[in-house]
Amino acid sequence: MNIDLVIHNTLSNKKEKFEPIEDGYVGMYVCGPTVYSDVHLGNCRTFVSFDIIYRYLKYLGYKVRYVRNITDVGHLEGDVDTGAEDKISKKARLEKLEPMEVVQQYTVGFHDIMRILNTEAPSIEPRATGHIIEQIEMVQAIIDNGFAYEKNGSVYFDTIKFAKDKDVYGQLSGRILEDLMVETRELNNQSEKNNPADFAIWIKADESHIMRWNSPWSVGFPGWHLECSAMSTKYLGKTFDIHGGGNDLKFPHHENEIAQNFGACGCQPANYWLHTNMLLMNGKKMSKSIDPETGVSNSITPQELFTGNNPNISKAFSPMVIRFFMLQSHYRSTLDLTDAALVAAEKGYRRLMEANKVLQNFAAIENGAAGDLDKEINLLIDKTHSEMSHDFNTPMAMARLFELVPKVNGLKEGHLSFSDLTTDTLDRLKQVFSDYIYTIFGLKDELDSASSGNSSMDGLMQLVIELRQGARENKDWPTSDKIRDTLAELEIQLKDGKEGTSWSKI
Ligand code: AMP
Ligand code: ZN
Repeated sequence: MNIDLVIHNTLSNKKEKFEPIEDGYVGMYVCGPTVYSDVHLGNCRTFVSFDIIYRYLKYLGYKVRYVRNITDVGHLEGDVDTGAEDKISKKARLEKLEPMEVVQQYTVGFHDIMRILNTEAPSIEPRATGHIIEQIEMVQAIIDNGFAYEKNGSVYFDTIKFAKDKDVYGQLSGRILEDLMVETRELNNQSEKNNPADFAIWIKADESHIMRWNSPWSVGFPGWHLECSAMSTKYLGKTFDIHGGGNDLKFPHHENEIAQNFGACGCQPANYWLHTNMLLMNGKKMSKSIDPETGVSNSITPQELFTGNNPNISKAFSPMVIRFFMLQSHYRSTLDLTDAALVAAEKGYRRLMEANKVLQNFAAIENGAAGDLDKEINLLIDKTHSEMSHDFNTPMAMARLFELVPKVNGLKEGHLSFSDLTTDTLDRLKQVFSDYIYTIFGLKDELDSASSGNSSMDGLMQLVIELRQGARENKDWPTSDKIRDTLAELEIQLKDGKEGTSWSKI
């Protein structure tokens, strides 16, 4: 499609015309989850945002290689100086599991949620533990180029030397090296680092550490930032087009990734850096960590939203309503999750999907006049495309579609006339709705789900619930199990409560 794409590049802090390295192809790397616990809706927001970016790049005709990693080693709970533990090792130790059992459980859970939210799988999903050799090679290259040093079996990146040699440290995050030195010096004084702003790229494992590999320096494990440098280089090359992640990763993770890539390969890893903004809940950042004041974490899991089982919401919301809710804000703006906002999103989603159904069912028309209505519709369609190509502005593109909804309803109800439209314009209108709703926004028809209040589906489910109840009363367990299992395959969950049995989409 012949549309110029403009992207906000965090590296230059400017909007720039997107020009891929190779015509027609895009290489995109996005930092994936650390799989030591269930993802919360904030994590999902970031991955849904990049899913829409991935879908839109493909819609524009690019062949995209989308790499999103799984962090299964090296992400520490704090700084290496304070003896911080690897998040996965810690979970494995506390729950008496193999680290790979922890990784498997939460990776599967993550994939399930991504599928339910209708995100497309990346082209490659590499794991940090599957790329230890590449990481060791990268550490060696950084040492050989003079940007890292070994101390007692651990290897540290020499941030001061790097900052003096290459004028890029701090460019992404705006952090000043001198300030960092002061900040980190206050935090730790027993470090083996030459300078407090240096960071570990290989960490010697102590006896209690369960995840460990041989290396030229010690039996140990890689620093967290290293995996993304090594895996992006392996699958996308030394310099590729787009690197993404949540904006809480700008520092230190992405700043240090750039330093490592320069240190090993002598160049910037990515031409465009994209950062998504945070999901808030009732005005505060969503996060897994426990708030010391309230004693609870400010987070909600997707499952809690789908079942309504969380004190912050009044009812269950379907996965597509959640996706619609996320589309209503720009990826670089914060998004505040409140019950009222979700209720409004549910109404908006239904209005859009119902208008689309009406539109797609319009019969072919005789060629009419290209009058005012025809012009207005074409203008709004053009604007939808230009909003989306302006830094993936989903709320503005959505707003244009909503300006088209009254035209559709007007045609249906007869206030507007098909004779004022050309055949091409009606076809174009049908196409733009279907392209945006399904292909780009990744929404699905869910008018028949629990939260839509669709009466025929409710009636049908009531019948199924009664049949299951009858089977249970007759102790016909195979039938009642079959009903439950088949519903589970259809992503419908039954809940038995005091008031009877209810159902919801999972
Ligand atoms: P983690 O599993 O903590 O490494 O995070 C996975 C991704 O989720 C990263 O790109 C984070 O930046 C992103 N993320 C974490 N919290 C939020 C939030 N509240 N809103 C949006 N993205 C988030
Ligand atoms: Zn990363």
